[in-house]
Amino acid sequence: MPPSCGQAELPLPLARYESIVQNAVEGIFQSTPDGRYILVNKALARMYGYYSPQHLLSEVQDISRSIYVDPKTRQVFKQLIEREGEVRGLEYEVYRRDGSTLWISEHARAVRDEQGRVLYYEGFVQDISRRKKAEMDLVAAKEAAEAASRAKSQFLASMSHEIRTPMNGVIGMASLLLDTPLLREQADYVETIRQSGDSLLTIINDILDFSKIESGRLELEAEVFCLRDCVEGCLDLLSLKASQKGLDLLYEIADGVPGSVRGDATRLRQVIVNLLGNAVKFTERGEVFLSIRCESLQAGAAGCASPVRLCVSVKDTGIGIPPEAQDRIFESFTQVDASTTRRYGGTGLGLAISRRLVELMGGRMEVESALGLGSEFRFSVILEGLEVAGGPAQGGLRSHLVGKRLLIVDDNPTNLRILGKQASKWSLAVHAVSSGAEALECLRQGARFDFAILDMQMPEMDGVMLARQIRALQGAAEMPLVLLSSMGRPEAEGDRRLFAACLTKPAKPAHLHELLAGLVAPSEAGAARSLAAMGAGQPPVPLHPTRVLAAEDNSVNQKVLAQMLKRLGYRADFVANGQEALEACALQAYDVILMDVQMPEMDGHEATRRLRARLRSAEDPWIIALTANAMQGDRERCLASGMNDYLTKPVTLPKLSLALERVRQARS
Ligand code: ADP
Repeated sequence: MPPSCGQAELPLPLARYESIVQNAVEGIFQSTPDGRYILVNKALARMYGYYSPQHLLSEVQDISRSIYVDPKTRQVFKQLIEREGEVRGLEYEVYRRDGSTLWISEHARAVRDEQGRVLYYEGFVQDISRRKKAEMDLVAAKEAAEAASRAKSQFLASMSHEIRTPMNGVIGMASLLLDTPLLREQADYVETIRQSGDSLLTIINDILDFSKIESGRLELEAEVFCLRDCVEGCLDLLSLKASQKGLDLLYEIADGVPGSVRGDATRLRQVIVNLLGNAVKFTERGEVFLSIRCESLQAGAAGCASPVRLCVSVKDTGIGIPPEAQDRIFESFTQVDASTTRRYGGTGLGLAISRRLVELMGGRMEVESALGLGSEFRFSVILEGLEVAGGPAQGGLRSHLVGKRLLIVDDNPTNLRILGKQASKWSLAVHAVSSGAEALECLRQGARFDFAILDMQMPEMDGVMLARQIRALQGAAEMPLVLLSSMGRPEAEGDRRLFAACLTKPAKPAHLHELLAGLVAPSEAGAARSLAAMGAGQPPVPLHPTRVLAAEDNSVNQKVLAQMLKRLGYRADFVANGQEALEACALQAYDVILMDVQMPEMDGHEATRRLRARLRSAEDPWIIALTANAMQGDRERCLASGMNDYLTKPVTLPKLSLALERVRQARS
């Protein structure tokens, strides 16, 4: 049959297009610039809740009002088309016929006449309600998780506060008690209390740190500090423990490592102390060797900072770690084997924290270990290098040492190498031997030296035995001898007299240099300084003229503070809250106020704000916050209230002394 006349039959291809449009899975439309649909397909009608395309076309007269949940969407749509020529994936919410809503994604373009005027828009839309719901659920879940994490941090902050406050009393009072006359048994008990207090505090700090890192709340400081002081400070902390175990604690800082750097000294110290602490803990015999070098040091212009990668290694000759446990130990609360490591104590958090801290500082941490032979923990961090170290021997004293002959006797090859290298840098002529027998042999053959360093702990012949034999030798009887020991000085007075000086391991280059220089030129100040460095008596503490007020509500903490201040040579008045502090300041001027932050009636912040508002003179007191809060931002809050400094509890004698020293420096 021919095509029916009168009725415009679509040519076949057009019918196909019509079918594609009508039966497409996506909604397809054409709409006029004033907001009416001129064509919609079945999918769109279904999506928007209408029976058929005709139903939708007849009911929806104004797209902006009937379809868009936000009427401004039409405006956005038109602006996009004008600016970009099309819209792609425009997502918005629309009303269905029954008033419910759904989210759609729209692609559309404008069809224009020859003058460029828009005739109509056409495009297609997809129902994305499911994806949108999933996204919104995700956002809600994330917000809920963040709220939970904030609550957790808040809980930790208050828990840490609650535990630290009484700990201040326990640790502080135990330390003070230890300085009073006690029976041996009593001293033992008190020492146990103090040590347990310290361990508890370490655990609290570890948990707090770990939570801060986990919740992304740990921010690093960027302060300028002396790298050598930082490293030597870490070694000082461990030297007693190492010497009690008879271990050689050694270190070497390579040439080219900057003298001062910018970074977070506290966190760097925390990582090094953790590794050194573990090394000493898990080593029964031999040595713990800390070495530091610098990679990719870019030479900056004078005074200019350049980034450096500091590479630190802590190597021990201890029990070692089996290969299968070497990854595991970096996880939180993990120890190699609870049954064997239980006797060493610890929480299994130290390495997890250290590795995360190192990563925060732009580096990484790894371990190499052989069971029964020892372990080496290596890590790197990125710091800003400010100045290349000159070393302790670049100054005027150097001339005294040039060309002097030094004999070093030590069975430990690492120590022999480090000492030899150090002394050669000072232009000393070094002869190093590894036993007393070798030393005696070479002296008997006529070799002469200006001084000798003897290690105390050597097999067969120890440092004291060797010294006795050297003193009996003709020609060497007068040679100044320096005893190098992990254990401090020899017990017997007679043995002590064999030596010009005793040095505790690890020997700091600056000390060693001063000591040797003092031996060469004993009349000079160097000798006096050497004696001081060796721990000659402390001068008595004079009474400071500084007027101190302490505001602290806890009576135990008041007692601790009073004793510490007395020990440091300060007299203080005490009040129990912020209100009383204000009253005391009205009666008398104070130079320093130690202000507890949390107090009843009026807290430290409020008292400080009121004091600052009232006084406003150059003679204002220096206010030091005392707080058990160790969370991020506490320091800033204290400073914002008008305080000058900040001490976290438990307050210790060195911390308090440093804080008061800072007052003196700031006021001088
Ligand atoms: P902690 O020492 O508090 O238990 P760490 O995270 O610092 O926690 O160490 C985890 C475990 O790794 C230790 O318990 C120990 O089993 C192992 N370990 C760490 N350092 C050493 C080391 N130098 N030698 C042997 N084992 C080590």
